Amino acid sequence: MLPLIATETPPVTPASSLRPMIDQDAAERAAAALLTALGVPLDTPSTQRTPARMVKAYAELLTPREYVPTVFPNEAGYRELVLARQVPFVSLCAHHMLPFVGTAHLGYLPGERILGLSKLARLLSSAAARPQIQEVLTQQLGDWLESQLKPGGAAVVVTAEHMCMTLRGAGAMGSTVTTSTWRGSLADPAARAQFMAMAGEGAR
Ligand SMILES: [Zn+2]
Repeated sequence: MLPLIATETPPVTPASSLRPMIDQDAAERAAAALLTALGVPLDTPSTQRTPARMVKAYAELLTPREYVPTVFPNEAGYRELVLARQVPFVSLCAHHMLPFVGTAHLGYLPGERILGLSKLARLLSSAAARPQIQEVLTQQLGDWLESQLKPGGAAVVVTAEHMCMTLRGAGAMGSTVTTSTWRGSLADPAARAQFMAMAGEGAR
């Protein structure tokens, strides 16, 4: 579940409620122990500070940036597709804690509520800043749009390269994974096709 709940008068979400509890010292000790157990020497000029750098990097990837998902009444009565295209994100694969990096198209057909435009990108980066599974991330974004905006339809298409797939294991360098969710009237095949055309995704 996403921790962010929007209303017409959104409460300011305290940053502390979004941030994971990170014990810097314990994490550095554990990172040093992990690297040592993996046979990585920590007494060279380039690796002396590596446990601390690792912790800082992971902490950053696991910490959502604070934002308020402002939802407004749809006073103009705009009913056509609102689409944020190719919004970049980085997340951590929950299975390997290696990054997966990609872009998402997020769109909805407004009902009575609309979302501040920049918030689609914020929503994505917030949902990505945790150990994630791409399929789950895609569903969570769709769930959030559906429950918070009560739109006529919503869709999320996520395409990402998973380092756990491309750098190791299958070694499928350069390959990407695409997941999608189609809600309400955007589940209709013609609406899907229009969504993909607007997103700049030609027939594949
Ligand atoms: Zn993985």
